[in-house]
Amino acid sequence: MAREKTFVLIKPDGVKRGISGKIISRFEEAGLKIVAMKMLSADEELAKKHYFLDEEWAKNVYEKSKKSYDKEGRKFPYKGHMHIGKTIQSWNCDFLCEGPIIAIVLQGPHAIEIVRKIVGSTEPRSSQPGTIRGDFVSIESYAVADENKRVMRNLVHASDSVENAKREISLWFSPNEIHENYKTATEMLLG
Ligand code: ADP
Repeated sequence: MAREKTFVLIKPDGVKRGISGKIISRFEEAGLKIVAMKMLSADEELAKKHYFLDEEWAKNVYEKSKKSYDKEGRKFPYKGHMHIGKTIQSWNCDFLCEGPIIAIVLQGPHAIEIVRKIVGSTEPRSSQPGTIRGDFVSIESYAVADENKRVMRNLVHASDSVENAKREISLWFSPNEIHENYKTATEMLLG
C-alpha cells in the first residue's frame, strides 16, 4: 500500500492555462511523492493507446453522461455505450494531441484514491470547490462540451484503478525514468 503508484496527465488545457505548477502543488501538498515527470507532445498512436476503447469504460461513460443529460431534461444524443465510447475516445485523442502535456507518476499510500479525490468529478461544473476541476474550470460542463462537439476540457487525467495505473505508467514511462529511490520529508515523518 505504501508504494501505490498512480498516473496523472496535465492535459493541453492545463499547460496552456499556465497552472501546471498549481496543479502539481496540490498533489505535493497532500503528501504524495513525485517519482516521474516529463513534458511531451503525444501523437495519435500514443493517444489511442492511452484512450483505448474498453467496453467497461464505455458503459461507465454512457451511465455518467446519461444521468447528467436526464437530470437536465436534455435529449441524450447517443444510441448506446459503444456509440458514446467511440465518439468520446476519438475526441479525447484529438484533444490530447492539441498541445504539450505533462505526464507524472505519483506515489504514496492510497495514491489512486487520493489523486481522484483531489482532481474532482469528471464534469467540472459538478466538481466540489477545493478540487482541481472545481476550482480552476468549473464553467466547463457536459452541456458546453456537447454544444461545441468536443470533449470536456477538465485539465487532468488520473488513473482510476490499480490495473489502469500499471498500464498507463508503463505506456508513458520506461522503468529508468521512475525515481522512487529517495525519501520525502512526509515519508520521514510518517514512516
Ligand atoms: P475521468 O477523466 O473523470 O476518469 P472518464 O474516464 O469517464 O472520466 O472519461 C474520460 C474523459 O472523457 C473525461 O475526463 C472527459 O474529458 C471526457 N468525457 C467523458 N464523457 C464525456 C461526455 N459525455 N462529453 C464530453 N466529454 C466527455
